[in-house]
Amino acid sequence: MLGWVVPPPKRPIKTKKELLEERREKIQWLIKQNFLKSQRIINAMLKVPREEFIPELYRDYAYLEVPLPIPGRKATISCPHSYPLFYETLELMEHDKFLEVGTGSGYGAALAMEIVGTKGKVVTIEIDEETYEFARKNFERLKYKDILPILGDGSLGYLPEAPYDKICITASCPKIPDPLIYQLKFGGKLITPIGSPRSVQDLILMEKEQDGTLKTKSIGNVLYVPLRGKYGWSDYF
Ligand code: SAH
Repeated sequence: MLGWVVPPPKRPIKTKKELLEERREKIQWLIKQNFLKSQRIINAMLKVPREEFIPELYRDYAYLEVPLPIPGRKATISCPHSYPLFYETLELMEHDKFLEVGTGSGYGAALAMEIVGTKGKVVTIEIDEETYEFARKNFERLKYKDILPILGDGSLGYLPEAPYDKICITASCPKIPDPLIYQLKFGGKLITPIGSPRSVQDLILMEKEQDGTLKTKSIGNVLYVPLRGKYGWSDYF
């Protein structure tokens, strides 16, 4: 997974129809590779145009299996397979109250919104102002008005909407931030990469059982940008 090569920026030439065709092919591939299983997540991936969450000069690469740069410090839109990997593992479903730490492009939050539906709720937090503005404009243009975007340190969670059924951190942490464990419902699940930004990291699923017992399990290796903020890497060294 180390050493992704980001293709060079170029003016986009692909038509909407071509990108839709690429999206359908990508979804078939994700199903074949066993990343994508549940119908609700398949439908969400078919519906959300990933290319709309990518800066113009990288838009034609929307369906390549690479993370792509977006505005802000070290911000990226994660590669396509990581979304079903996170959401299938979390068992994200209709009605869920969902918190995402690391809004990035907003693509992950848009997919989550399609999955949880209007009876659920999506709260997403971004620490970088420029990235936050990029995502906010994407939500506005694509009419995702029910998503609640927050500018701030997501390692502290977001208490006004807590507790959450599912929490996903899309940046790598030194350890799972205590406030996020606290803001998880009993019976809830949290997924996050854990480990140094200088190496591959462990993708960890944590379940908080009805009696409060915490169970963790390792899902595999991933490569994410470092979590910043109080419980992130910046204050760790
Ligand atoms: N989920 C995103 C990809 C996120 S990339 C998408 O779908 O596009 C990771 C993001 O986490 C970056 O934008 C980075 O700025 C943000 N981030 C890092 N530390 C954070 C923190 N403490 N709180 C909120 N966001 C954070």
